[in-house]
Amino acid sequence: MFDKILIANRGEIALRVIRACREMGIASVAVHSTADSDAMHVRMADETICIGPPPSADSYLLIPAIISACEITGAQAIHPGYGFLSENAKFVQIIEDHGLTFIGPTAEHIRVMGDKITAIETMKALGVPCVPGSGGAVPDLETARSVGAEIGYPVIIKATAGGGGRGMKVANNDAEMERAFLTARSEAKAAFGNDEIYIEKYLTTPRHIEIQVFGDGKGGAVHLGERDCSLQRRHQKVLEEAPGPCISEEERARIGKVCADAVAKIDYAGAGTIEFLYEKGEFFFIEMNTRLQVEHPVTEAIFGVDLVREQIRVAAGLPMSFEQKDLKINGHSIEVRINAEKLPNFSPSPGRITQYHAPGGLGVRMDSALYDGYKIPPYYDSLIGKLIVHGRDRTEALARLHRALGELIVDGVDTTVPLFHALLEEPDIHSGNYNIHWLEHWLEQTLKQD
Ligand code: ADP
Repeated sequence: MFDKILIANRGEIALRVIRACREMGIASVAVHSTADSDAMHVRMADETICIGPPPSADSYLLIPAIISACEITGAQAIHPGYGFLSENAKFVQIIEDHGLTFIGPTAEHIRVMGDKITAIETMKALGVPCVPGSGGAVPDLETARSVGAEIGYPVIIKATAGGGGRGMKVANNDAEMERAFLTARSEAKAAFGNDEIYIEKYLTTPRHIEIQVFGDGKGGAVHLGERDCSLQRRHQKVLEEAPGPCISEEERARIGKVCADAVAKIDYAGAGTIEFLYEKGEFFFIEMNTRLQVEHPVTEAIFGVDLVREQIRVAAGLPMSFEQKDLKINGHSIEVRINAEKLPNFSPSPGRITQYHAPGGLGVRMDSALYDGYKIPPYYDSLIGKLIVHGRDRTEALARLHRALGELIVDGVDTTVPLFHALLEEPDIHSGNYNIHWLEHWLEQTLKQD
């Protein structure tokens, strides 16, 4: 086992990893930018090292600075968290070249899944159901049109190198194709430096269902059921839950096995998430994330496992501490993402926290790097906390979420907390009757009224 792990991240996820390290008796090293000198992850880690100025490109994304931080502190392994360098194959390669360990899959697995077309081809070959589509890059408008005619409109045009919900355009008919195709391509070029695009059937009322998988890197793998992340704004998840309100035990077992078998076949190591759109009882693969997800705590809650601990174990060459038969679902869990954003436009709201009180009590987990007096810097993601509740069933989890949100105090900046109070008034949220478009429609209507 490692003696010391460096965490190449900040905020709540850095804390999450530090906590796992501490429970395992492993020393932790926090890296930080000058804007984060007073951040909680810096206060909580065993050692800290400043790696650069505020912009991420000069600090949290600066590979030489992170490698140097490892060499200076003697850390043997790097946990990337999510975002930043977590899905950067080059980073993994450099780590390995320096005789260090990346806590995650191999550079090759990251590369394959990071390119969406290769990911789809790979998954298809492994028996995972995919969305009908071009099946490869679409080089020109003419091809795009014939793909549209063949699979039927509406279609969605996506960037091969895409991520974070960016670079996607819908075309409802042949007439809309030209504009959608050209905009998608130029946006892809601008955002990802790669204008390769592909086309998929656009599903009109799907839910977002993702399967958590975990591999030992030696041909062994399990699945930890699904998360339903259908409540999205601009393709960004807002609330996640597990198990999915519309997934039966048989469906879970079936798609779970397909996913576990797929990652076992490629000797995948560590945590991964296979994302699907789910419509009319069918699953359609959209992408695989080769890292820990923001919403991993809902899975931890219902299975009673520590996914970060497991990632560290597997990276150290130890076997996984559970097998498929050990994994039983207990109750229901919901997570809400609390962002420092001002409604109704969700504009960033950085600034000083004048008062912070985290909710507590049975079945409540607050993953946050906030504290009284903390100044949220304007340079990074607006996620400031995740409130996760766990109940015996969905009804109890919702009641607990309502209660916990009532206890939470975050003063000094605007947050998305009022959004969740309002959502909990909605019958559709209680019945679980929503798809990936529900929140956008609801926001449009609600904001119009206000
Ligand atoms: P990213 O990597 O940018 O997050 P994804 O491929 O995961 O892109 O898609 C993000 C979101 O876009 C999905 O959760 C879903 O809301 C929507 N989406 C993607 N593909 C389709 C599709 N074929 N039909 C309908 N919606 C889609």
